[in-house]
Amino acid sequence: MTTGLGIEERLAQGVVLGAEGYVFELERRGYIKAGPYVPEVVLDFPDAVRQLHREFLRAGADVMVALTYYAHREKLRHVGRENDLEAMNRAAVRLAREVAQEGGALVAGNVCNTWSYDPADPATSATVRAQYTEQLGWAVDEGVDFVISETNDYLGEALIALEVIQELGLPSMVTLASTQPETTRDGYDYVEACRILADHGATIVGLNCDRGPATMLPLLERIRATVDCAVAAQPVPYRTSPAMPTMESLRADGVDRVFPLALEPFSCTRFDMAAFAGAARELGVNYVGVCCGGAPHQVRAMAEALGRQVPASKYAPAMDLHPILGVAGVAADANVLAAWNVAG
Ligand SMILES: [Zn+2]
Repeated sequence: MTTGLGIEERLAQGVVLGAEGYVFELERRGYIKAGPYVPEVVLDFPDAVRQLHREFLRAGADVMVALTYYAHREKLRHVGRENDLEAMNRAAVRLAREVAQEGGALVAGNVCNTWSYDPADPATSATVRAQYTEQLGWAVDEGVDFVISETNDYLGEALIALEVIQELGLPSMVTLASTQPETTRDGYDYVEACRILADHGATIVGLNCDRGPATMLPLLERIRATVDCAVAAQPVPYRTSPAMPTMESLRADGVDRVFPLALEPFSCTRFDMAAFAGAARELGVNYVGVCCGGAPHQVRAMAEALGRQVPASKYAPAMDLHPILGVAGVAADANVLAAWNVAG
């Protein structure tokens, strides 16, 4: 892995591999409460955050993203931890930096949709700006290489984040969530919204969250054809379809509510995510990653699909050594092979 290069230099050299999904993964591991999804884990169990950063790093991620998703004033107030706001934001960047240094990765500050923004109420713009300014002020203080503003469902809110990032003099990656089928919540076609962000000087524009690979790729192709700057794609690793284009719209027989706690039947395999990484690179996507639901085994498969050997590749599958499925297993009893659904 190259070291000492900033995000723009790395993008110029080839695809940058991202990895997110910290909130979902740490919720599965018992360290974050589903519902509020506030990253209290940063202060309560810093080792759990450190460990997941390290797993993504070993899987090949080029960027350690500070776990400040939803660590803004509005959200912390909901869980009674407003007084921990500064400590949580600073600690998140420190944890990301500590692990990034183990493998020459970049550190990204992170802001997201605030749920405070209302395009019909101009006063909310100031509230949003104040939240981003304080969060990113602490991030810059602790040391970040660039900032990711993500899961933006309003173009207007994304533009506020972009301005704050630019005022801090940092490269910006601004990605839109795409919960709604056609447009942002303030009514912009996703491709047009990316064009506007690019015109305002964003370093990287694109999409994250909500859509799985199958329903994000067609939009990415149009975005790539429209903007000249770098394009980012961080889908959720779920098998969405034209009829159910987002993870929120997935429905399964016998399941009351698939999103967000019963998504497993729709999980992409590591092979699906490897195929996505290759397809995104083919389209000319520059920053390829994963969002909610992503896990290290998928990131390693993506890295390897991009032609890389990463630390975790040491333990990549070696099915030839499997007792039944491997070469030696071919000689096994025909009944055993039939039971395992493999040909002898
Ligand atoms: Zn997500």
